[in-house]
Amino acid sequence: MKIVINHEKCTLCGKCIEACPMNLIKKVGNKMKVQNSRCIKCRMCITVCKNNAIRLN
Ligand code: SF4
Ligand code: SF4
Repeated sequence: MKIVINHEKCTLCGKCIEACPMNLIKKVGNKMKVQNSRCIKCRMCITVCKNNAIRLN
């Protein structure tokens, strides 16, 4: 299982960056990137994303 970002739905609002307790989400260029190897699957990023751009796959 890993966190996947739908780049077409993502508006780069940055809410998921603030929400991640592990600081695993970063904006790289014009895309959000997740460092999945350290993800604890807390789902906070999914909860705060108003655009349904994040899912656990
Ligand atoms: S919270 Fe959702 S819309 Fe906002 S930057 Fe993160 S993935 Fe994109
Ligand atoms: S599930 Fe939790 S630890 Fe993993 S990227 Fe989202 S907020 Fe960060």
